[in-house]
Amino acid sequence: MKVLVINCGSSSLKYQLIDTDKDTVMAKGLCERIGIDGSNFEYKRDGHDKTQKLVEMKDHKDAVSIVINTLTDKEAGVVGSLDEIDAVGHRVVHGGERFNKAVLINDEVIKAIEDVSDLAPLHNPGALIGIRACMELMPSLPHAAVFDTAFHQTMGPEAYLYAIPREYYEKYKIRRYGFHGTSHAYVSERTAKVLGRDISGLKTVVCHLGNGASISAVKNGKCVDTSMGLTPLEGLIMGTRSGDIDPAVITFLMRKENLTGEQVLDILNKKSGVLGMTGISSDFRDIAKAAAEGNETAEITLEAYARRVAKYIGAYAAAMNGIDAIAFTAGIGENHAGIRKRVCNYLGFLGVELDDDANENGSDERVISSGGSAPAVLVIPTNEELSIALQTLKLIDK
Ligand code: ADP
Repeated sequence: MKVLVINCGSSSLKYQLIDTDKDTVMAKGLCERIGIDGSNFEYKRDGHDKTQKLVEMKDHKDAVSIVINTLTDKEAGVVGSLDEIDAVGHRVVHGGERFNKAVLINDEVIKAIEDVSDLAPLHNPGALIGIRACMELMPSLPHAAVFDTAFHQTMGPEAYLYAIPREYYEKYKIRRYGFHGTSHAYVSERTAKVLGRDISGLKTVVCHLGNGASISAVKNGKCVDTSMGLTPLEGLIMGTRSGDIDPAVITFLMRKENLTGEQVLDILNKKSGVLGMTGISSDFRDIAKAAAEGNETAEITLEAYARRVAKYIGAYAAAMNGIDAIAFTAGIGENHAGIRKRVCNYLGFLGVELDDDANENGSDERVISSGGSAPAVLVIPTNEELSIALQTLKLIDK
């Protein structure tokens, strides 16, 4: 089966055509600066070099047309026609309380996604533009919406309610939603497979550490807690986001620096995290390099980052009454052995014992704890696109 996965923002569109029988990416790429001068189209087909060209894309319909034409092109394409594609899966960031799983898209679903858009004003409108363009240009294919928030909808109110007046939850649905759900779902399933355990009966903590970072507690395959909240700003220290802070910092900064609330939020989203702490970079490779060269601020930042992750793992051990597995994933979680080591250094009290050799060598799914370690520690490369494709396929009856 072949699924076209679309991840659309207000001026960009990422796509992957996935062969789910082989778990392979047939082709993938990116349309950038849609509706802006100098639109750029990137295309990479399996086994060939990436190509890049400037093409005018005045709107998302233009972008989707170019994607379709390229995928079906006689020479550069990977399929003879659209008939060879079985479905289209769309990533949608926010599904609010309405969506606890992926759904096939119809007019009512589009309206419901619009209705929750004020919870993700930077993300959902872009996804909707992409969905409309794709449905218009590929009307004969089933289209599915796969939500970042859906996996976390199994959290109970004791995990998702904030300790603020209940009326704000009732009036505005202010609560913790959680994000990166497709990754947390995929990685927790793979963790069970790699350990040869049934997912029901397993208590797993998934550490998704990328530019955005979040951590979740997954019990019997269901999310029971997660670190991101109403928006993806809460929780861990990230590339440019602060994660948890005392909310009083916001009004303090507004007064002292004569800023609006929106401006402070912008600082917390885009100028904070490891970038703000070091002033060096949001990229962990730069920070690790600086720390190795003796930069004390970079060293403190790496330790603060790891300590925050470890504190959440401790909290989730309490929330689940124990942990069987800890899985690291995403750019930093998969590639940065030093951060994994720092996090695990805090976890001796749980019985964690890292196998340094396995931690430092290898790039695939693997256990990186020693045989006696309880809980097991793993590296599980995430694959959000494959997860979207598989969730999409589950919805079509073929
Ligand atoms: P996004 O949230 O944008 O999908 P990624 O999951 O790609 O982010 O993670 C990006 C982060 O991963 C960056 O901070 C980058 O430094 C880090 N990273 C990627 N490759 C490596 C590597 N080989 N070693 C250490 N860090 C890495």
